[in-house]
Amino acid sequence: MSTDASVQSFDYIVVGAGTAGLVVASRLSEDVNTTVCILERGQNLVETPEMYIPGLRTRNAFMNDRTERFNTVPQPGIKNRSIYHPRGKTVGGTSSTNSLIFGRFVQNALPVLDEKTDDLSNDRGHTDDYDALERLGNKGWNWETLLEYFKKSESFTVTPEQSEKFGVHPDLKSDGTTGPISKTLPTWNNPTLDGTFFEAMSSMGILHTTNPFNGDISGSWVPSYAIRPTGAVRSSSATAYYEPNKDRKNLHLFTRAQVTRIILERDQSGGLFAKGVQYQELDSGRRCTVYAKREVILCAGAFQTPQILELSGIGNPQILQAYGIEILVDLPGVGKNLPEIPPHFETVDVLLDPTTVQAELDQYHKDRTGLLATGLSSAMAFIPLSKFIGLERIKQLIESIETQDPDGHDSTLKLQKEQLVEDRVPQLEVALVPAFFPTFYLGLTPEPGKRYISFLLGLQHTFSRGTVHICSPDPFTLPSVNPNTLNHNIDLEIMVDSIKFCRRLLQTPPYESQDIIVKEVIPGPNVQTDDGIKDFVRDALDTIYHPIGTASMLPREDGGVVDASLKIYGTMNLRVIDASVLPVHVTGHPQATVYAIAERGSDLIRKATQ
Ligand SMILES: Cc1cc2nc3c(=O)[nH]c(=O)nc-3n(C[C@H](O)[C@H](O)[C@H](O)COP(=O)(O)OP(=O)(O)OC[C@H]3O[C@@H](n4cnc5c(N)ncnc54)[C@H](O)[C@@H]3O)c2cc1C
Repeated sequence: MSTDASVQSFDYIVVGAGTAGLVVASRLSEDVNTTVCILERGQNLVETPEMYIPGLRTRNAFMNDRTERFNTVPQPGIKNRSIYHPRGKTVGGTSSTNSLIFGRFVQNALPVLDEKTDDLSNDRGHTDDYDALERLGNKGWNWETLLEYFKKSESFTVTPEQSEKFGVHPDLKSDGTTGPISKTLPTWNNPTLDGTFFEAMSSMGILHTTNPFNGDISGSWVPSYAIRPTGAVRSSSATAYYEPNKDRKNLHLFTRAQVTRIILERDQSGGLFAKGVQYQELDSGRRCTVYAKREVILCAGAFQTPQILELSGIGNPQILQAYGIEILVDLPGVGKNLPEIPPHFETVDVLLDPTTVQAELDQYHKDRTGLLATGLSSAMAFIPLSKFIGLERIKQLIESIETQDPDGHDSTLKLQKEQLVEDRVPQLEVALVPAFFPTFYLGLTPEPGKRYISFLLGLQHTFSRGTVHICSPDPFTLPSVNPNTLNHNIDLEIMVDSIKFCRRLLQTPPYESQDIIVKEVIPGPNVQTDDGIKDFVRDALDTIYHPIGTASMLPREDGGVVDASLKIYGTMNLRVIDASVLPVHVTGHPQATVYAIAERGSDLIRKATQ
C-alpha cells in the first residue's frame, strides 16, 4: 500500500473502499503492471472492537467515525416519520459495520434438523431471483454466471460440531472453499427455540429444506455469517480483500479523501470519458485531483453513487439544472428505482444490559466463545406468498397492482408482478430473534427479568419505489433519501398478512402445545382488525438497511443507468460497481450478492482492457 499523494495518475480509480470497492481494487491490482487508486472518505478502523467482535456489530450504526447517518425525508406512508439509515463510512464500507449475515439462503439451502439431502444447489426455483436480472435485459447476468463469482468470493468453513448440530456440510457445487470472505454458521443458539420455530414452520407447510427437483423455493434455514471461525472475528472486504493485499506496490489507498466530482471530458469523436476524480482531503481541507489512465469505477454505495453522478453532470436534467450543474449525460434513471427497503416488524439489539455485555466481552477475549462470537439469529424462513396468503387474497393483491400501475411501464414492477403470479420467489423473511427486539420508533423497553422472542418480518420484494437525489450543489451536503415507504398499497397489505401469519404460527404446535409463549407483547392482543394492524405497522415499521437500484443495470429505455458491462450509458470508461446497480431485490440479505457482482465486474473490466 502507498498513501503517497504525489502519485497523481493511476490506471484505475476506485471511488469508495466499501464492500464492492475493495473487491474491485484488490482484483484489478492482481496485475502487477496495473496501478489502482482507492479514495475513501472514512478511516481504517478494522482494529476497533465494534468492528471485529461480531456481537458488538450493532454499535457501529450509531458511531459517527464509521457511519454516515442518513435520515429519510418524512414519509407520508408511515405518519410522516423519518427512518434512520446508517451507511458504513470506513475502509470496508458497510461490510465493516453491518450485521454479518452472509448467504444466498435460497440458492444455497442449508438443511436443518431432520432433513437430509446432499444435493442443494440445483433447486430450480431458487435461481429465479438472479435469472430475473437477465429477464430485465442484462445479458449474461443470471444464476449460472453469478454462481462462479459467489464461490470465488467465499470460503465456507464449518466445524464437525457445527455440521453435526445443524446437519450442514459445505457443498462443492454451490459453496466456495478458497475465496477471501469467511462464511460460517452460528456458534451459539438456543436449540429449543430454534427447533420450535422450524417445527411450527413445517406444520405451516414451510419445510426445513426445499425439494431440489420441483423448484419449491420455500424453506427455513440456519443463516450463515461473514465471520472468520479462527478467532471469531468479522470477515469484511477490509479484512478479507484489502488487508492481505495492502502491501502491493500498485495498490494505493487514500483515506479521509472525499470524492466531490468525476472530471468528464469529450474526446475528438465526441465520446465522453472520465479523465479523473476530484476529492478533498478531509483533514487538511486540501482539494486534489487524480487522473485515470483507463477507468473510473464508482463504488460509493446506493446513496452516494447517485450523488457523485449528479454532481458530475450525469442524471435527470431537471434536477441538475436546479442546482446549476452542467448536463453531460441526460440519464433520468440516476437516483431512481430505490425500492422501499424491506420493512421490519421488530429490530435493534439484545445486549442492553451493561453487566451482561462485560461478562460476554470477558468470555470473548478469553476463548472467543459466547454470545459476542457469533451472529444473533440462528433460525430464519423465506416464504413465498401462497404459503402465507390465501389464493383469493393473492388474486386481489395482483389486481390491486394493476389498479395502481395502469401503465405497467416499469419493467421491474412488471417482473415483480410476474414473480407474484408465478409464486416461486419468496416474498417474506421471518427471522427468529431470541430477544426483545422492538423497533426504537416504538420507544419500548423490556421488563427486567423477563424473556422474549421476536420475529423480524422483512418484505423481500417491495413495490414502493423512491429516490436519492442531491439537494444542494455542495458535495458535503448529504443527498436527500426518499424511499416512499408504503407508497404502494400492496406492501402494506402484505405486511398485514405477514403479521397475521406469525400469529397463526404461534398457535401452531409445538408453540401452542409447549407453553413457550406467555403472551403477545407487540403489537398486542388489542390490535386485531386489519386497520388496527395497519396503524401499528405505520408506527413501528423500520428498515433492514438494504438500499439498491439507484444506478440500475437495465436497458436505458427502461430507466437504466448502467449497461450489462456496468458502464454508465453515454460514457466510455465510467462504471458503477456496488449495490446501486441491482435493479430488483434478491431474496435474502445482499452483501453476498454485492461481492459476487464486484467479482464479476472486476472480470468484465479486466477482459475489456486485455
Ligand atoms: C446496519 C446495517 C446492517 C446490515 N446487515 C447486513 C447483513 O447482515 N447482511 C447483508 O447481506 N447485508 C447487510 N446490510 C447491507 C449490506 O451491508 C450492504 O448492502 C452492502 O454492504 C453495500 O455495499 P456497497 O459496496 O454497495 O456500499 P458500501 O459498502 O456502503 O461502500 C460504499 C463506500 O463508499 C464510501 N464513499 C461514499 N461516498 C464517498 C465519497 N464521496 N468519497 C469517498 N468515499 C465515499 C463510503 O464511505 C463507503 O466506504 C446491512 C446494512 C446496514 C447499514
